[in-house]
Amino acid sequence: MLVVFKPGASADDRAKLVAAVRAAGCQTREVDGNGRAIVAVVGDLETLRDTPLDVFAGVASVIRLTKPYSLAGKEFRADRSVVRVGDVMVGGGDRFTLVAGPCAVESYETLLETARAVKAAGASILRGGAYKPRTSPYAFRGLGLEGLRMLREASRAVGIPTVSEVTDPRHVEACVSNVDMLQIGTRNMSNFDLLVEVGKSGHPVMLKRGRDATVEDWLLAAEYVLSQGNMKVVLCERGVRGFDPATRNLLDLAAVAVVRARSHLPVMVDPSHATGVAAYVAPMARAACAAGADGVMVEVHCRREEARCDAAQALSPEDFAELAGDLRLLHGVLHPAAAAKAH
Ligand code: PEP
Ligand code: MN
Repeated sequence: MLVVFKPGASADDRAKLVAAVRAAGCQTREVDGNGRAIVAVVGDLETLRDTPLDVFAGVASVIRLTKPYSLAGKEFRADRSVVRVGDVMVGGGDRFTLVAGPCAVESYETLLETARAVKAAGASILRGGAYKPRTSPYAFRGLGLEGLRMLREASRAVGIPTVSEVTDPRHVEACVSNVDMLQIGTRNMSNFDLLVEVGKSGHPVMLKRGRDATVEDWLLAAEYVLSQGNMKVVLCERGVRGFDPATRNLLDLAAVAVVRARSHLPVMVDPSHATGVAAYVAPMARAACAAGADGVMVEVHCRREEARCDAAQALSPEDFAELAGDLRLLHGVLHPAAAAKAH
């Protein structure tokens, strides 16, 4: 629910309403509604049934949201959010961000070599998993804390911010101190305790869509993070479970358009996990750009044949550089004003 205040409403008017809402057990977020004060009320709104908010001093109107998510929705914010990751801005509607790097951090040398190559090609964020959720318990599950430290080292050496998956609430602190953005993987999109922890951390979050999640489930998962006061959420479509083994998952590009219609949050696409096949990554990355995504996250490995994880979908640095060039051209055609600004 959004409470819109009259232009002349005072800070005291707002404070009284906020106190009443909190006393009922709900939470509030102050929103800048283009010069007009708005207070978003979140929580179990049933508890406010006997507290009519529209009679409070200074209140112009109370908007009951039509969607179950309030902070993630368009009604909360009409323009597009920008999320800062290190010194890189993601989202906003007119920039296209490339996130690239190996599936897993395997050794400092390969991480550094890949980081240099992807940065030179135009990537602005380095990816690399230190905690790898694997289907088989016998598969390589990542280097853990050592991997996080390698990411920090590589980030400093190359001058590029990093994103890495966090799989366990107990690892949030270590991830926050070593990487610039926390990734929530598809398997953990519904791990609500983890979402609350990354929300509390205040660190930027890349929230992958669950393999069987509807767009509404996904936006409600984002709401878990946002409701902790952490507005730095970037969504990432990575394919849902399909019926055809020709691709690893079924890339739902329509979800990009749906999210853009329903939410102000930036939305990226991961064509690597969506397809599972290196040859299909570039076409789907270009399609993601055309569909309106704010960027793509692509797996790149400087020695693909040695990759311990997801080798079949990794691009070589050369192929990534070619894709990055295509994406620059394509984005420039689709957003000529932004392209002019960049030059
Ligand atoms: C990843 O990006 O490293 C990953 C495991 O992706 P997903 O959670 O989408 O499968
Ligand atoms: Mn992977």
